[in-house]
Amino acid sequence: MGPFVFEAPANRVVFAAGAVAQLADEVDRLGAKRALVLVTPGHEADGRRICDLLAARACGVVATARVHVPSEIAAGAIASARELRADCTIGYGGGSTIGLGKAIALELGVPQLAVPTTYSGSEMTAVWGTTANGVKRTGRDPRVLPRTVIYDPQLTLGLPARVTGASGLNALAHAAEALYAPNASPITTLLGEEAIRALAAALPRAVRDGGHLAARTDALYGAYLAGYVLGTTAMGLHHQVCHALGGAFDLPHAELHALALPHVLRFNASAAPDALAQIARALGAADAPAHLRALIAELGLPVSLAELGVPHAGLAAVAAYVARQPYPNPRPIDEASVLRMFESMFTGELPERTT
Ligand code: NAD
Repeated sequence: MGPFVFEAPANRVVFAAGAVAQLADEVDRLGAKRALVLVTPGHEADGRRICDLLAARACGVVATARVHVPSEIAAGAIASARELRADCTIGYGGGSTIGLGKAIALELGVPQLAVPTTYSGSEMTAVWGTTANGVKRTGRDPRVLPRTVIYDPQLTLGLPARVTGASGLNALAHAAEALYAPNASPITTLLGEEAIRALAAALPRAVRDGGHLAARTDALYGAYLAGYVLGTTAMGLHHQVCHALGGAFDLPHAELHALALPHVLRFNASAAPDALAQIARALGAADAPAHLRALIAELGLPVSLAELGVPHAGLAAVAAYVARQPYPNPRPIDEASVLRMFESMFTGELPERTT
């Protein structure tokens, strides 16, 4: 084992079935008196239920959260938080809602108490992002890390099967990339392997039977650990190609992350044999990329860029873009090798293992 640096996220985590009942106590613990509840459109009833739990501590509901935090949505929510004199936000939902709470925290310094209901892991990171004119701006700031996170698996029982599978594999992808990150440590490796093990075992059960509380509990535990390592390591080629392809073709975030994972792992295998062996061990598989490719199909998720409607003719320009600004990655990349990987992602056919 070599020397390492590890910076743990400084927040409080409460994990239990039914833990949302402790919400008011957790707000009191933060010393807050006026909590603004954030949800996505269509989840206003959830917002009202959260206000009931908060009683006099609730100051309003903003139900405008949208994927990738459009800047006008962020501006509206910041204005509401100011007007209502909110001294904390409750981000109740997935990465979109928690992202909106982060935008408020960044601008006003108002802390967020996150109640995640998907597996995005955003609640464990200090990374924020907003989108204007199709361009996503991201940054890292300790103020946006939610101060308290309440994980209540009961709240995920109604998560649709497709979101369950895609969001869960998105989380698994974060854990996998953490294992070969340049700033990986024995701590992130332990947590990353455990995240992969928990997610891979739980997701098929949670997708088959959304009401399976034990499967939901294990999946949410895996998502917590995956978010933890996402927040403490630098992501590589997988994160980069998903960012580039998603931005170029406006693709569904979690589905894209899921289908790209086996291909990126196959690409990186020769340069990161230890990480690939750790992933295989966590999956209980001989060949991690092939196992994940099969898992994605088993979960009923798209396996090819063609299925997502990506035009084949557009791939070369994205490969060139990716090659121009590489992220830290175990295997050096160039335009031709990225394009070859895109070709296999396009058809969904995973190349054979070479070692
Ligand atoms: P999401 O938050 O957009 O949620 C997907 C859909 O599921 C929404 O319509 C939402 O209303 C619905 N939903 C959420 N929970 C539900 C539940 N329990 N039951 C029924 N429906 C439910 O999607 P996501 O995958 O959670 O998050 C994606 C976003 O998060 C992206 O913008 C991504 O960039 C961001 N993200 C950020 C970080 C970070 O560290 N900053 C990390 C991961 C993801």
